Amino acid sequence: MFEALNERLTGVFDRITGRGALSEKDIAEAMREVRVALLEADVALPVVKDFIAFASERAQGEDVIRSVKPADQVIKIVHDGLIEMLGGEEPVPLNLNATPPAVILMSGLQGSGKTTTSAKLALKLTKTERKKVMMASLDTRRPAAMEQLETLGKQIDVATLPIVKGESAVQITRRALQAAKLQGFDVLILDTAGRTTLDEAMMAEAAEVAAISRPVETILVADSLTGQDAVRTARAFHERLPLTGLILTRADGDGRGGAMLSMRAVTGLPIKYLGAGEKVDALEVFDARRVAGRILGQGDIVALVEKASEELDQVKAEKMAKKLAKGQFDLDDLAGQLAQMKRMGGLQGIMGMLPGAAKMKAQMANANIDDKMISRQEAIISSMTKAERKKPDVLNASRKRRIAAGAGVEVQEINRLLKQHRQMADAVKALSKGGGKNLQKMAAMMGM
Ligand code: GDP
Repeated sequence: MFEALNERLTGVFDRITGRGALSEKDIAEAMREVRVALLEADVALPVVKDFIAFASERAQGEDVIRSVKPADQVIKIVHDGLIEMLGGEEPVPLNLNATPPAVILMSGLQGSGKTTTSAKLALKLTKTERKKVMMASLDTRRPAAMEQLETLGKQIDVATLPIVKGESAVQITRRALQAAKLQGFDVLILDTAGRTTLDEAMMAEAAEVAAISRPVETILVADSLTGQDAVRTARAFHERLPLTGLILTRADGDGRGGAMLSMRAVTGLPIKYLGAGEKVDALEVFDARRVAGRILGQGDIVALVEKASEELDQVKAEKMAKKLAKGQFDLDDLAGQLAQMKRMGGLQGIMGMLPGAAKMKAQMANANIDDKMISRQEAIISSMTKAERKKPDVLNASRKRRIAAGAGVEVQEINRLLKQHRQMADAVKALSKGGGKNLQKMAAMMGM
């Protein structure tokens, strides 16, 4: 899967790699090519549009254009965009929180791989989660569907509900629930009947089974080789059933990959597993990072860019530590700290992490300290000249009036900020005299 897309994207990256600088036009051209590559991979148009808007905005940023290796930055942006498109870095595990048995309802079209996937999942839960699993086929229509599940059950040593001919899907569901409860099973996997096309009777039956069995997971199994048809199927199922996740089968096939890339964004549902072969152990936990890696084949560059940005923070922290060690702490440093506070979710965010925050909150409310104050302080500092920020001592009355007008605040507030800064600078000086070993750590905490 993804071979053609990989080839196309590699071509795009090759054309921009090795150039010293990239203009906005170069980046726009590269993004146009990425767009065509995604459309050719059969990714849904709205998904492609969102992706290109996201990636273009980031790639046109100063950071990329001015960076030493702009092409690497573009690769990293496309990589991150793909992960976002696929639902983010963190795999979404199956939810099994329920009074036993936790019911997993499997739905999907006939031939999508539903029965095989039920067995794969049962095996995985038995092996890796040590769960006691029972499977039951509700497929009363397809000849031998129930026997197929029974055979699979024997093969993987997982219990199946004994077959009773002539029962309806609802009757089987009730019997399965009771048997699983009485026999102490942790998980009950219900394999619903599929049809070759979407039809109302099938949907109504699945909805009724869901209402009776109250599944913790209602999974749609879809064949990733059917492209946008799979996406349309997922949407139609989601309208009738409260789906909680997707499993895409035939990820081992040589499809273009459009279904996998569009599914999450179109349906909003997490992809939980990939079926990657006919064998019962061919089920992988879905990992967006790994898939993005497979599509781009640029793992080394992505890792390098990530490391470089980590190092950048490290370099900043070291620089700050040196300054602090000398007892220096100017208004630029204070501005950096204010920005860091904002990144951490403002005062509310920071206080949420502190014990005893409620009392402090009340005190701060009394003193009129809030997030707006952080923004006003930032405005004050950015209304100063570079020299003033380095040496606040030069701030006389007329300079303060100019800054107050620029920042839209009262002079009093500038005085308050200067006082606060002086206290902090004094503390830094005292620390540096003590030869504090933790200065670098402190600098990192201050985000500078
Ligand atoms: P159902 O009608 O949806 O229950 O589909 P089945 O479970 O009977 O599967 C139909 C066929 O697809 C079988 O031959 C399976 O072995 C095959 N199949 C299922 N999942 C996968 C997969 O992930 N990869 C491959 N290559 N084949 C699969």
